[in-house]
Amino acid sequence: RVVVGTKVDQNHVNWVTAYNMLTGIRFVVSRTNAKMDRPLTDIDFEARHKFSFDITGNELTPSAKYDFKFKDYAPWVFRHLRTKFRLDPADYLMSLTSKYILSELGSPGKSGSFFYFSRDYKYIIKTIHHAEHKFLRKILRDYYEHVENNPNTLLSQFYGLHRVKIPYGRKIHFVVMNNLFPPHRDIHQTFDLKGSTIGRDFKEEDLESNPRATLKDLNWLRRGLHLEFGPSKTQIFISQMEQDVRLLQRLKIMDYSLLIGIHDLQKGNEENLRDKTLQVFQPGGERNEEPQNSMLLRTPSKLENARKARELREIIKKEKPIPMDKSSNKMPDEILERKHFAFYGDDGGFRATHEDDKPGELIYYLGIIDCLTHYGMLKKAEHFWKGLYHSKTQISPIPPEGYGERFLQFITSNTKSKEEAERAKHSMPSE
Ligand code: ATP
Ligand code: CA
Ligand code: CA
Repeated sequence: RVVVGTKVDQNHVNWVTAYNMLTGIRFVVSRTNAKMDRPLTDIDFEARHKFSFDITGNELTPSAKYDFKFKDYAPWVFRHLRTKFRLDPADYLMSLTSKYILSELGSPGKSGSFFYFSRDYKYIIKTIHHAEHKFLRKILRDYYEHVENNPNTLLSQFYGLHRVKIPYGRKIHFVVMNNLFPPHRDIHQTFDLKGSTIGRDFKEEDLESNPRATLKDLNWLRRGLHLEFGPSKTQIFISQMEQDVRLLQRLKIMDYSLLIGIHDLQKGNEENLRDKTLQVFQPGGERNEEPQNSMLLRTPSKLENARKARELREIIKKEKPIPMDKSSNKMPDEILERKHFAFYGDDGGFRATHEDDKPGELIYYLGIIDCLTHYGMLKKAEHFWKGLYHSKTQISPIPPEGYGERFLQFITSNTKSKEEAERAKHSMPSE
């Protein structure tokens, strides 16, 4: 694998937190799964259960390495969501077992969130702010109903909402969600698109030192890229985008983006084998300042990362071989279960098509991420300040209606087959 973070082992500053998260998840998920399935009730959406773990264990919780408290939110709703997203219960637990290491991703973004991959890269644990946590609980029913009515939703798939706390430590809220990117395919380019242009530029010069950085709207436009879908795929993709954005607008959500990972079948995974340097994925990326608590969030050096990545790769190789070479383009089992979903059905992603709907050369791994920011939370102030200097529609924090329209508009106008894009280019008046 190329996209690996820092292995979280016993020496890692966040080892205890990661261990507690996984131990807690394992306990609460098994606990809920052990019961007979039943339909949801209203109370399920508000439910929360608190557990205390300690080194001796008690009649309710097994013994753990550390003392900590764990809170589980709406366990039945998430159990049903996992079923809707077709996760295999045993497999989910396997992936998130504390026996295995997670890896932590780069430095935190503007939001200060941490990201952890499960060992097999299928799941991401994202720590979230208390406000986002409260908001997810508030919209859980709308989200649930949306997933029910839109099995192919492009929104982040949430599998669990929990909280951990160590004695005298602060409360850490987190969600478990899908990793959009596959374990078995190299992602050659990544874009995080919002449909805004202000501040949406990754410095092209910095690409040299970080060739797999997540690029933004202006980088996309500069490259003249499109989501290359023929008429059939364009139609299903855009109509799902519309459905999803309608929900986000109605819930007054802002600041989300379309995350796009592009795998070029012609390049395949070969590059991988030659490329020995590690690409540390840097979430967020809109922040320029140093993380405030940089002692705690020390960004590991490149060498350190490379060494840890090698170790991690070795471990993964031993435990579950992942087909790497081009000749065996076999999908790992975990990707197979995604085949039921429109946008994750082509080898875990959504393959480009030509104008005649014949398959193209790219596979897109995409979804709408970071969708827990409510307009009222932090954007009002920012809107006011930025509004003084920039045109109202171009800044990213505009009210949710406008945000959604601009987002949709951007994605729609950037979705067309290669052939169509070519024609459009030629019919444009030359400068
Ligand atoms: P900010 O609020 O500053 O944008 P954040 O901490 O809320 O940052 P996100 O926007 O959720 O972080 O994600 C940051 C980056 O992490 C994304 O650009 C993407 O590269 C990666 N990422 C987030 N979610 C996923 C996912 N589900 N699958 C794969 N990568 C992801
Ligand atoms: Ca974001
Ligand atoms: Ca965010």
